[in-house]
Amino acid sequence: MRLLVVEDEVKLASYLKRGLEADGHAVDIAGDGEEGLWLARNQSYDVIVLDIMLPKRNGFQVCADLRGESNWTPILMLTAKDGEFDIEEALDTGADDYLTKPFSFVVLSARIRAIARRGAPERPAVLEVDDLRLDPAAHTVERGGTEIKVTAKEFSLLEFLMRHSGEAVRKTNILNAVWDWDFEGDSNVVEVYIGYLRRKIDDPFDRASIETVRGVGYRLRVGR
Ligand code: CA
Repeated sequence: MRLLVVEDEVKLASYLKRGLEADGHAVDIAGDGEEGLWLARNQSYDVIVLDIMLPKRNGFQVCADLRGESNWTPILMLTAKDGEFDIEEALDTGADDYLTKPFSFVVLSARIRAIARRGAPERPAVLEVDDLRLDPAAHTVERGGTEIKVTAKEFSLLEFLMRHSGEAVRKTNILNAVWDWDFEGDSNVVEVYIGYLRRKIDDPFDRASIETVRGVGYRLRVGR
């Protein structure tokens, strides 16, 4: 799973990152609430582990902001010990579960698996990268509020790029994710479809958000 840990205590954060990575997860760390919010908005996570006492923006605010934006990524809040009100507020602002510090890593790991299983049932999170918006449930794509008609393949390709926005993704990874594992056609099909997408999501809007990364593949740029 892909996890975001928002925790300002450096030692605890790196301990969690090491442990969760040893469990096989991909883990991003944010050291304050604003960074956490930014990452949560721009990446797609299976679970967010969110401390309450954070610099810049506290965990309650981060959680409330995400829920206010219809981001239903499961959130596990970390509360201070004896924080009865913390727990109440955490659940009221839309957290899925909480864990009181200090906690055992084994319990944290189990809680993460449990809330991930429940998923984000309210509605699938809408993917947003800058003014580009893709709704997996409604199967719609918009740029700055203008609806863009795409084919099923173009949709899958765009969804993959958006889920990895800001990252350079290899053509082979795109091929494996968007076409079948056993796809035996030419990998040039990726280039062809990237071209189709550029003509739909970039050219009409005078943008160049799908970048070619030489020798690697492509990157959906974050920020103009
Ligand atoms: Ca803290």
